[in-house]
Amino acid sequence: MTAYRQVVVGAGIAGLGTALYGAARGPVLLLVPRAFGPRVPERIDAVPLAAIATLIDLGIDPRNFSDLVRHSQRLAAWSSKEPVGISGREVVHVRRAALEAALLARVVRLPAVTVAPAPADRRELRALAATWSARGVTLVDASGRAAVLAARRDVLRGAWHARVMQQRTSAGQEFSAPRLAAHEGGYAYRLGCAGLITVGLVSFRCTASAVVPCWRRLRREHPFLFEGLDAQDERPIRGYPAGLQSAQHAGSLAVGDAGLARDALASQGIAAALSEAAYAAAVETAAERRLYALRMVEQRRAHARSLHLALADAWPSSLPAWCEYRGEVGRLLTDSAEPPVRVALREGRVRPLAAPAATGS
Ligand SMILES: Cc1cc2nc3c(=O)[nH]c(=O)nc-3n(C[C@H](O)[C@H](O)[C@H](O)COP(=O)(O)OP(=O)(O)OC[C@H]3O[C@@H](n4cnc5c(N)ncnc54)[C@H](O)[C@@H]3O)c2cc1C
Repeated sequence: MTAYRQVVVGAGIAGLGTALYGAARGPVLLLVPRAFGPRVPERIDAVPLAAIATLIDLGIDPRNFSDLVRHSQRLAAWSSKEPVGISGREVVHVRRAALEAALLARVVRLPAVTVAPAPADRRELRALAATWSARGVTLVDASGRAAVLAARRDVLRGAWHARVMQQRTSAGQEFSAPRLAAHEGGYAYRLGCAGLITVGLVSFRCTASAVVPCWRRLRREHPFLFEGLDAQDERPIRGYPAGLQSAQHAGSLAVGDAGLARDALASQGIAAALSEAAYAAAVETAAERRLYALRMVEQRRAHARSLHLALADAWPSSLPAWCEYRGEVGRLLTDSAEPPVRVALREGRVRPLAAPAATGS
């Protein structure tokens, strides 16, 4: 029987990234959902340029999932109702399902990684996890917002929900730059790659029946989000939870959304999942496990701080739906300080792994 060094639950970007980094250190068991296959429909996500560099280091060719057009400007109706150009960090847009497929294709070629279906029953999975843990195997929860190994999950009461629409288009690159607009019940964004535009409507407690009227209103109030798109083909096609969620883990490490699902506004989820994968794969001892958990506390506080500022800056920020969510985010900032984390980070005691050689198979 293989003596696994790490067992990773979940095969999104966080789980695939952890398996990829961890394989350089020893055998990894990657547990995937039973109905595992390519994710449809495709979605466009914004990713900082630095995360693309990480993927290249991991041996992934970004041309498989991005046209690599760099955007440092976005058009935003955020602090005022009128859209203005804003400069920010450079991002590229990726086709999300294609990125996961490229990571998976790399992972399955690694002899150190065994891919197996996870037990469908959560209690069975947790019991199995406890037996691995007792044998000294490091457990990594990469199951996204499901956070299947968490001791506790905190979903903010004001958490927001996203409905995403995609449209094939022949429009050129001038239509692909990021666009963002605050609206009374939340915010909406638009991202694009060659031939595909995504518009996401992120709403406070959005019921299914409220979505279509909200789209219509958005089209009237913020036509710049819909430029070049066909109004006939504009039904939102998929819903996702998009607000801040955090989870506490006792006997396992959490990577990606399983530990901290960032608000979609931040466009940080993919970069953070890759970075946390590199840190989690390096963990060997109980002391490192504790430091990793403390690092996550810092991450949560940093995200809450920047999100709180961004929400306060939006023109509808004094409306009740916005106040409720911002209040919940603000409460995360009052957590007691965690001095050990600062010390650990300053001394560099939790170090991420360097990317494994791209040519390894
Ligand atoms: C609308 C929206 C827009 C976003 N836009 C951006 C963006 O522009 N840029 C960006 O960087 N981020 C964005 N994000 C965030 C980003 O999508 C997430 O942070 C990222 O997907 C997290 O990856 P993950 O691997 O942690 O989780 P997931 O992608 O959720 O993967 C978790 C995996 O675990 C599996 N799983 C669940 N339960 C089990 C189980 N019991 N056993 C085995 N497997 C299980 C799931 O099936 C899945 O494969 C956005 C999120 C939303 C909702």
